[in-house]
Amino acid sequence: MQATADQSAANRMEAWLVAYPDVSGWLFDNCESNDFAASLAISLQKYGSLTDNQVSAVRRKLVPGVAAVAISVHEIEMKFAVARGNLVKQPRIRLDTFKFTAVIKGANAGGIYVTDTTEKDDDGKAKYLGKVLGGKFLPTRECSDDQKSRILAAAADPTAAAIAYGQRTGNCSICGLELTAEESIQRIIGPICASRWGML
Ligand SMILES: [Zn+2]
Repeated sequence: MQATADQSAANRMEAWLVAYPDVSGWLFDNCESNDFAASLAISLQKYGSLTDNQVSAVRRKLVPGVAAVAISVHEIEMKFAVARGNLVKQPRIRLDTFKFTAVIKGANAGGIYVTDTTEKDDDGKAKYLGKVLGGKFLPTRECSDDQKSRILAAAADPTAAAIAYGQRTGNCSICGLELTAEESIQRIIGPICASRWGML
């Protein structure tokens, strides 16, 4: 009986995905970075469809006509590569008000998620503003023009943006912990992160 029930949910889900390509595309793109999307993906697998309210909630998040913009993340990727070489599993760096996080697994692997640490989403987490994939930044609708231009500037010169972050917050731009030693404040990142990221 259980197997039959699971199978019919799977069949319903397949039909549902075809009927709601915009919503399923958003779920696919966001289920790793966004708890709301992850919870919907679980419901979808369980029940084979989403409710009308859930569909409406996703469609409010869809981004009609928000264009991808070219972005250079070469500098960030070089820092991530050093960190991964030093066994940092999922490198992330805080630049300006943002956190750039390497995507290791899934459909967006090789990309970078961008959140704003000074804004919170409904779950109290840093607000997701978009992702970098294939040399393009794909902003969400909630990403303002000001945030977009600061994201591009931070990616183009992460060292300057890390200094700005460290001076503004007094925290390490890698791990986010408070900088205490005078030395660390001058260097903007703490000594442990500095050695792991080859920035000594
Ligand atoms: Zn640190």
